[in-house]
Amino acid sequence: MSLALVLDLDDTLYPERAYNFSGFRAVGRHLAAQHGISGFADCCVALFESGARGDIFDQALARLGVTADVAELLTVYREHAPEITLFEDARTLFERVRGKLPLALLTDGYAAVQRRKVAALGIADHFAARVFSDDEGREAWKPSPLPYLRVMNLLAQKAEEFIYVGDNPAKDFVTARKLGWQTVWVCRPGAVHQVEAVAPGFEADIVIESLTGLPWHRYGL
Ligand SMILES: [Mg+2]
Repeated sequence: MSLALVLDLDDTLYPERAYNFSGFRAVGRHLAAQHGISGFADCCVALFESGARGDIFDQALARLGVTADVAELLTVYREHAPEITLFEDARTLFERVRGKLPLALLTDGYAAVQRRKVAALGIADHFAARVFSDDEGREAWKPSPLPYLRVMNLLAQKAEEFIYVGDNPAKDFVTARKLGWQTVWVCRPGAVHQVEAVAPGFEADIVIESLTGLPWHRYGL
């Protein structure tokens, strides 16, 4: 059996919160330079740390007592060149599998944003296939079968040879399992998406705390 390792991006290979904070800093620089508003990034980080999601920019502007065009800030956030780095265990994984197992990337999110993350991490060349589900539209995001089938077409292997490694049981594993893939949940302490309970059918075959815990012996490594 020739296996193929398929990897999610956010919170699987690098800490997603580092992207969030990098974006806050970019928007903060923009607001300071263009509108003379200071303290925005620190305010966003504090809101994020206290659990705010989704309307952080509105809340930060309100806290600072200023107004700005949130759509413009979102554009700056999404178009900034992210300052992010791989998890150490992801770096080790790339070294370990190099030339031994084919790797594929399967990631959701705005395609241009995800491509900027891949470029910032410098990992594009590790993958035999890179699938950005958003290339096929919002309806092709996980758990749509489309991006999984695209990976299978690109690598041309049997379903049971694919191993999907992701961090989010709400969307990463349900379709992979239905297609006959093996699944691994990397459940990191401190991840952006903390999970209370996993719905039936959405579980992974195995759960690990870091990529170091992958069952390498089963993969012949
Ligand atoms: Mg993820």
